[in-house]
Order: sequence, then structure tokens, then C-alpha cells
Amino acid sequence: MSSLTTPASTPAPASPQAAAATSSTRGTARQIRGFVGGAFLDGIRAFDKIDPVDGSLVGQVHEAGPHEVDLAVAAARTAADGPWGRMTTGERAAILRRVADVIDRRFDELVAAEVRDTGKPETLARDLDVARAAANFRAAADTVSTAGLDSFLTELPDGRRALNYAVRKPLGVVAVIVPWNLPLLLLTWKLAPALAAGNSVVVKPSEQTPSSATMLAEILAEAGVPDGVVNVVHGFGAGSTGELLTSHPGIDAVTFTGESSTGSAIMRAVAPRVRPVSFELGGKNAAVVFADADLDAAIAGLARSTYLNTGQVCLCTERIYVERSVFDDVAAGLTEQARRLRLGRPEDPATTTGPLISHEHREKVRAYLDLAVAEGATVLAGGGVPDLGDDLAGGSWIEPTLWTGLDQTHRTVREEVFGPVAALIPFDTEAEAVALANDTDYGLAAVTWTRDLSKGHRVAQRMRVGMSWVNTWYLRDLRSPFGGVGLSGIGREGGRHSLDFYTEPTNVCVQL
Ligand code: NAD
Repeated sequence: MSSLTTPASTPAPASPQAAAATSSTRGTARQIRGFVGGAFLDGIRAFDKIDPVDGSLVGQVHEAGPHEVDLAVAAARTAADGPWGRMTTGERAAILRRVADVIDRRFDELVAAEVRDTGKPETLARDLDVARAAANFRAAADTVSTAGLDSFLTELPDGRRALNYAVRKPLGVVAVIVPWNLPLLLLTWKLAPALAAGNSVVVKPSEQTPSSATMLAEILAEAGVPDGVVNVVHGFGAGSTGELLTSHPGIDAVTFTGESSTGSAIMRAVAPRVRPVSFELGGKNAAVVFADADLDAAIAGLARSTYLNTGQVCLCTERIYVERSVFDDVAAGLTEQARRLRLGRPEDPATTTGPLISHEHREKVRAYLDLAVAEGATVLAGGGVPDLGDDLAGGSWIEPTLWTGLDQTHRTVREEVFGPVAALIPFDTEAEAVALANDTDYGLAAVTWTRDLSKGHRVAQRMRVGMSWVNTWYLRDLRSPFGGVGLSGIGREGGRHSLDFYTEPTNVCVQL
């Protein structure tokens, strides 16, 4: 039983406990409501959430209009001015650790919600999404418990002495807007440090993946986060809930993960009131394979970095530059890996690869598959929509795809596809490899495969990206800075970098 759901005919319950008591689907569509001031909230209308695995109905999502967004921001403001922001960091950290414990206890429910919304393999939701949600809260609790700030004993030439020290203060009300690819992971990545710093928040999950955010709101309440500190509003972006939130005068900052063009629209929305933003945006990430690499490890790593989560991770590799002498070996190895991937139902342990998030997204990816061929690509693997039988015919499936024959002039090598695709391109020298990898408007992540340690360090540092891996990919330490350059974002989050964004320092100077 999932406690985020209530039958269509049931009025919105007044508390999470009440919601849990009335949870049921009993032949009616699951209702996914907002959560404001500690209670579920109906929207102005409801829209259908479709299961990308087979096209069936997951539930109806309540879209927040201007009034509901006003209520959410007002609830967050009241909470920001209340005890939450004035608690000691130790008290807040203890609550955040309890949140992680409740996530662990309700792990299976969260996995089920995440799988229902995204269609991703259950094993992936367990190992990556939900496990990281709990880890994000524990990491934020650790960071805030140990964070310090500048202090200086000042001695001026005229003999005056003073103590300068900075104190951190919460920003106030933070809008948290997240996408659909790793819904709970990306939400908690931003939510946990925002809360640790003493802010209250209004969360706007993706319209494609509303379920785990609503469930998380319940979990936070259960763990002792006061009412109004975390509010969830559902809806779309432009012209809907997302835009209402980012242009709301009661918002003190926006933290956003999503497309670069959306980041640009949000910048425009907050510009009149000059609010701080933290943006984690798109990528067109490169991997470079040198001839001296452990090729088996590189091919396995490339298969993971290209096809994990059906290529729907911002860090996924879409451009693979291979030193010419091993180009054919890497092409053959990766083709075999792509063909071995098993598309299927999420609950089947043999499934490696789920569908794309929606038919709309599949149409976008399919258009790139057609474009690649028109641009002269040779298709080594995939290239189209698979036939998985009647059972899955209504889903938004696409084949893991690998191309050769493309170069930097082609749109398929320059634009983010956000699907299970990569172009293999040969290079001859280290300088050429670095130049090719950096020839992009984006700058999120890069991978270098080599056995030469000096070359690994050298190349990794020259990559114009936020995260540069050597002989691995997506190995994360949650204390390390995460973010991108160029079209890939503004700012860094992770560990103290998150605290720096979610707090405002006030410097105090006391003459001694
Ligand atoms: P998106 O930008 O379309 O939507 C993201 C969120 O923004 C959704 O909640 C959406 O409703 C909302 N939104 C859309 N338009 C808005 C507007 N005008 N005002 C306010 N809110 C608005 O992105 P998506 O399609 O959901 O996600 C895929 C994108 O996210 C890809 O580009 C991917 O690279 C990027 N991404 C980046 C990272 C990172 O850490 N850099 C991580 C994951 C995904």
C-alpha cells in the first residue's frame, strides 16, 4: 500500500497520518496531491501521469495554480520565520538523520513509486536512486555539523585591533525545481542541504515524476520536520506551476536542475528581483580513450556511462573519442555491450534498460536517430524503436544506439540528446583529444581512460567541465563540488559548496 495515494472521490486529508489512513486505489485513479503546510492540497485541475513501460495510467496529478503556489510560499515563509531557522545545527542534523532512517524503513515503497513513474529497472532504483536519497540526508547532516566559517584577528597599522568573524544565516524560502530522470536522488541532493542550512522550501517536482516527492513530504513530517518547512506543488513549467513559483515575490532563491533553456527562462524570471540561483543543467559529455587504456575496463565503463538509466543521466557520455590505433577494438566491444542490454519490465532482475520517460521524449530522441543517419552516421547498434511485444507496445521504448562516421560539424555531436546514444570519433594526439572534448557549449562531465597516470591527471585537468573522471565514471563523494560550466550550469553544490549557496554570511567586526 502506498500512503501517497487517495481515491479520487476522497477529499484531501488534513495530515499525512490521515492520508495514510485513507490510502487506496480501489478501482479509482491514484491521486497525487500537493503538500502544503503539513497537509495534502488539491490542485486546480488534475492531469494524467502515464507509465512509460506500457502506457497505462499511473495516477492523476493535482496541478497547483496561483492560489496554491501562494499558499505554499506563505506556509514556507511562516516556517522560515519560525523555530526551524533558529534551531541549533545539531538539532536540525538529528532530524535529517531521522529522515534518512525513515527513508531506509520505507525503502521499498519509494522504490515502487520511482519505478512506477520512470519505468527504470527496480535494481537501479534500489542501488542508485533511493539509496542516494538516504545518503544525501546523512551527508548534509554531517556537513552542517562540521562546517566552519572565516574568522580573523585584525591588526591595523594605527594600532586598532578587532575580531572579525562570519556567521551563516539561511536564505529564507528556497524554490527547488527538479527534473524526471533521477527524481528522488536529485530532489534530495538539493533539499537536504537547503534544510540543513535552516531554510524552508517549496518543491516543484517534474510533472513526469510526482510520486516520490509527495511521499518524501510525508516522510519528512514523520521524521519531525515542522509543518510548512517543506511544501510540494505539482504542475508543469512554463505558464504553469514552475513559472508561478520562480516569478513569485516571496521566493528568496531558486535551485534548479534541468535543461539549459529552462535555466535561462528561470534566470529571466528572477532577474527583476535579483535572486540567487544554483543551476545544474544539460551536458554533451565526452569520454576519451587512449590506446594505453585497459580496454576491457574502458569498454565496460563506456557501456555504463552511455546507457545507464537509458542514457537519461546528465553525466552520461554522448561523445566518445578513441585513439585511432584502438578505434576498431573499442567500436566492436561497445557494439557488443550495447546489443547485450536487455530491455524489459522493471521488476525482471534480468532487465538492464528501461524505457525513455515519455512518448514525447522518445519522439525527440527518435528524431535524433533519424538525423544521425541523414548526417551520414553508420549505425553499429540500435537506431530505432524495438518491438518488445504487445505487452510493452504502449511504452516509450528506444534501442541503445551507437554511431560512427560523425564529426564535430554534426548536430548529433553538438546537441544533447538525453537518450541511450553515443558517437564514436577517432583522434591521433593527446592535444587533439582535449580539443575535441572541449569543443562544446556545454561543460558538465568528462571521462579519461588511460593507464598512464601523468597523462590521466594532465588530461583530466584540461577538460573544461565541472567533474572530470579518470578510469571510472559517476563515482561520487558527496562532499566534492558538483556542477558545470558553460551551458551546463552556474555554481557548485555538494558538501560545503552546498552550504555556501544555501546560506548568506554576515560578517561581525568587534573592536577589541
Ligand atoms: P526541464 O528543464 O524540462 O524540466 C525540469 C523542471 O523544470 C521540471 O520540474 C519542469 O516542470 C520545470 N520547468 C520547466 N520549464 C520551467 C519554467 N519556465 N519555469 C520554471 N520551471 C520550469 O528538464 P527535464 O526534461 O525534466 O530534464 C532533463 C534535463 O535535465 C536534461 O537537459 C538534463 O541534462 C538535465 N539534468 C541536469 C542535471 C545536472 O546535474 N546537471 C541532472 C539531471 C538532469
